[in-house]
Amino acid sequence: MDYSKLTKEELINRITELEMLNRELLREKEAETRLDFAWTGNLGHWYWNIQTNSVVFNPLKVTTLGYTKEELPQKVTYQFFTDKLHPDDYQNAMDAMLLHMKGKKSVYEVEYRIQAKDGSWKWFYDRGKITQRDGEGKPLFASGIVFDITKKKEQEISLKKKNEKLRKSAETDALTGIRNRRAIMDELESRVLEASINKSPLSIAIFDIDKFKAINDTKGHVVGDKVINEVASIIANTIRGLDSAGRYGGEEFLVILPNTDKTNAAGVAERIRKNVESHDFGEGFKVTISGGVKQFQGEEKTELIDGADKNLYEAKNGGRNKIVV
Ligand code: GH3
Ligand code: MG
Ligand code: MG
Repeated sequence: MDYSKLTKEELINRITELEMLNRELLREKEAETRLDFAWTGNLGHWYWNIQTNSVVFNPLKVTTLGYTKEELPQKVTYQFFTDKLHPDDYQNAMDAMLLHMKGKKSVYEVEYRIQAKDGSWKWFYDRGKITQRDGEGKPLFASGIVFDITKKKEQEISLKKKNEKLRKSAETDALTGIRNRRAIMDELESRVLEASINKSPLSIAIFDIDKFKAINDTKGHVVGDKVINEVASIIANTIRGLDSAGRYGGEEFLVILPNTDKTNAAGVAERIRKNVESHDFGEGFKVTISGGVKQFQGEEKTELIDGADKNLYEAKNGGRNKIVV
């Protein structure tokens, strides 16, 4: 149709007519999609005219955010939505759209939080596509669908938190709060691999509380447990950086020292020994530990531990309260 010959009134009539048709088609499209996606009650279509920067959408997209149709500006722009994005999700959403516009991704697909009128955050899953480009490939028109996935996302986040808690408790020794045997052995496994690949030094130290049976026998198991707990804290507070400590046995501890040769490892072990020796376990009650240090030299994990264990045995034979390297 040649619009240039129409009067203003005829043009207005034509636009009104097209707008009505547009609303009708949108409604029909929603009904259709709702049948296809019967599993979700919350769905919105959007159509974005990139050149005029005007967004047409199913009311659900904004009613979910707590706005009534009357509250919306006459022309809703792309920024009407992006301005409400969660700061942590903004860049991600922009990148997703940009990658798609540049043709690097075949669809635009992203999950983000968007702020509702009452200030709360809603999670949306948004997926769309450029549907029209000009002769030079410049995007003209895009359309897509958006789901309110707030409930699902909140469940997912709470499940993640629970899993994280479970994982932590599965790796933690209940008495001391440091790593348990399995966790420290897993850590050793990866540190050994890392040291082999990087050709970087790695050392370990095994500590054992001296004459612990006597502590149990004379002071009781409750005090015994308390001693184990305090020794673990001293070890954990003495090491730093990449170092890690775990409870290897009843009153035995394994410390892993990445990027540390045996000389420096001996220094750390000696510091731990001294800190235990000088610690007051209550009413002047003193406890000492012995330690065996070994530097990794390409051997198996079990051999490495055996080596440190032998040094520990020597420290015990040599009179206890000693570190042997
Ligand atoms: P040393 O190491 O100096 O040779 O003497 P020790 O008396 O410490 O000898 P040993 O390592 O054989 O004894 C360790 C004792 O620790 C045996 C066990 O009854 C006690 N034990 C192990 N685990 C725990 C625990 O979790 N709590 C308490 N209270 N005692 C424990
Ligand atoms: Mg022991
Ligand atoms: Mg002991």
